[in-house]
Amino acid sequence: MARKIELHESHPRYLSLLAREKLVTGFQRGLVASEGLIAHGRGECFDYLLGECTTDSARAAINVASATLLLARYPVISINGNVTALCVDQICGLNRSLENSSVEINLFYYTKEREKLISEEFKKYGLTRIFGIDSKNLVSIPELESNRRLVDRDGISNADVVFVPLEDGDRTIALKRMNKKVITVDLNPLSRTALSADITIVDNIVRVIPQLIKCVEFHRKHSSENDLKDLIESFDNSDGLKKALEVMKSKQVPFQ
Ligand code: ATP
Repeated sequence: MARKIELHESHPRYLSLLAREKLVTGFQRGLVASEGLIAHGRGECFDYLLGECTTDSARAAINVASATLLLARYPVISINGNVTALCVDQICGLNRSLENSSVEINLFYYTKEREKLISEEFKKYGLTRIFGIDSKNLVSIPELESNRRLVDRDGISNADVVFVPLEDGDRTIALKRMNKKVITVDLNPLSRTALSADITIVDNIVRVIPQLIKCVEFHRKHSSENDLKDLIESFDNSDGLKKALEVMKSKQVPFQ
């Protein structure tokens, strides 16, 4: 039976509850795998420790990610069920603002039906072409087991930069082996994805994408190619991960 939950903006954890509700609704609609709910719970835990806000080091990573996406020959955004449930509209907005990018579906817990539902959801938000769904166009990532080794010939396989929010480690490492530049969003600074990506944004994806779009639009107007290259060269991903962990460790017990 469908539940009716009333969420009030005055609730101190309103945004977190809203995200949770989006995941549950996405699960009921068949967009999110049951395992996706568990992954979200893990993310919530790290977000709690971060204080549910964008830290300075995450802001710096978002800035460098925008520069990298703008300089890319062909950036591809890889999406899954959780990303769809949480921010389908923002991902479509990011794709529009990048102008030369594509969106590709990649599901860890693959079913044809879920793939179809996700692709229809993106079409509702104005995306006309989505990669990863035409079996004739799929090629294998070397050395990766499971159906997730498949990528689209005209999507990720051809990309120089791949944006893979909420990704699992094996695939991130496999994409790195294919010489892709990998940008991720992961609230866990210790995950294999966070450790192996070129740019890790340790923040909640619902906060990241709107800021990423703003940075893309800002740099497109105000920054030269050399400005963007300088930004990228001065970035140290492991430093950002250490700073995220420091923020988490610095939380104090709020009583004596
Ligand atoms: P890895 O294989 O990289 O070591 P893992 O096995 O934890 O990581 P998954 O469970 O596939 O990988 O990944 C989900 C990751 O996404 C988790 O690290 C979780 O913290 C993170 N995550 C979940 N929800 C969000 C969110 N809303 N925003 C950002 N990150 C999130």
